[in-house]
Amino acid sequence: MRRTIYDDDHEAFRDSVRSFIERVVVPEQEDHLVAQALPRSFWTEAGRQDLLGLEIPEEYGGAAAGDYRFMAVLTEELAKVAAAYASCVGIHADITAPYLVQLGTDAQKERWLPGVASGNILLAIGMTEPSGGSDLAALKTTAVRDGDGWVLNGSKTFITNGFSADLVVVAARTSPEKRAKGITLFGVETTSVGFSRGRKLDKVGQPQADTAELFFDDVRLVDADVIGEVDMGFVHMMQKLPQERLGAAVANVAHAKQILLETVAYAKERSAFGSSIGAFQHNKFVLADMATRIDVAEAYVDQCVLAHNDGHLTAVDAAKAKWWTAETQSIVLDHCVQLHGGYGFMNEYRVARAWRDARVTKIWAGSNEIMKELIGRDLGL
Ligand SMILES: Cc1cc2nc3c(=O)[nH]c(=O)nc-3n(C[C@H](O)[C@H](O)[C@H](O)COP(=O)(O)OP(=O)(O)OC[C@H]3O[C@@H](n4cnc5c(N)ncnc54)[C@H](O)[C@@H]3O)c2cc1C
Repeated sequence: MRRTIYDDDHEAFRDSVRSFIERVVVPEQEDHLVAQALPRSFWTEAGRQDLLGLEIPEEYGGAAAGDYRFMAVLTEELAKVAAAYASCVGIHADITAPYLVQLGTDAQKERWLPGVASGNILLAIGMTEPSGGSDLAALKTTAVRDGDGWVLNGSKTFITNGFSADLVVVAARTSPEKRAKGITLFGVETTSVGFSRGRKLDKVGQPQADTAELFFDDVRLVDADVIGEVDMGFVHMMQKLPQERLGAAVANVAHAKQILLETVAYAKERSAFGSSIGAFQHNKFVLADMATRIDVAEAYVDQCVLAHNDGHLTAVDAAKAKWWTAETQSIVLDHCVQLHGGYGFMNEYRVARAWRDARVTKIWAGSNEIMKELIGRDLGL
């Protein structure tokens, strides 16, 4: 289906993202898999090409795009290469940077944003803890008032970019008796005394993303490290999560669409019983079904992107986009693996890696069950 949300400026930007990918990503893809992380040069090159500061004002070195479609283009192109690129860049530029831009003080912006835009300050966000991620209001990491500062104790887990990050936006409990209304966000520099990282987590998929546990042992913070308002962290996160879920949806569709395209090509080339496997009616119908699912999902996500640009995307719309595209991607990629036969189960085959990479999308950014919980509540249930 012809897409209408992008104009010439977005397509020109897409070309520049593709040239970055050709130059910086493609030649080093195998190294990223082995290292289970992206090197700093990836980030600084992305910064040099103005890819990391799309939401950052120009005075702080950003591109101030003022149009979420540019971020969507960046996400799409990275997801087409491998889901982890979209995830890592998404956490940095699309998910965490907006907390600093929209909630940060002038001093915080001066301190952090130029490095965020240039790729010299790598961002991560720490919400999930070993005891749970879905019930965010129950988080246990504490920041206790001490004189005119704070003392942070606790841990976070499954943190994307966690192993390399320079600055982590950390959600911590500041008022124990208040549950959701007692959480505050802090900018924690990873050079802080008392901060440490656990091992790089061994994941089923997305090996290029360094995912880690983070520990805070009497980390001393000052008021200038508070992001947004004290005790308003939960509200701040709820306000930002729709954009995170929209970005996830954009990546889900682009990733699945690309692998489906490659699978159609494979189904035309691979033969059995004297004809291409795609010519068998069963497989043709499977591929037709998948192509339809992708087009329909993409149309909904495109409307969400436009709604977000206009400031109208609701948390419920974003929840629908996130769970539906994660589920669609899962169905599509499972069929793609099947159509590749035994090769579809070989790690050296891209389709196998894409299938593993995609599995997490039903779990993170708020699990699909939590998305349905939000939608159900909106239905008055
Ligand atoms: C690779 C990876 C990267 C991640 N990156 C980050 C990151 O950068 N920062 C960050 O903060 N977090 C990150 N996460 C964490 C992710 O957001 C959480 O894993 C997710 O929110 C689920 O939390 P949990 O793992 O604690 O599962 P739990 O909350 O323990 O849930 C377990 C199961 O119970 C279900 N469940 C829970 N509550 C309900 C309910 N009310 N109704 C129905 N079902 C329910 C869940 O859907 C899930 O299926 C990442 C996770 C992974 C795997």
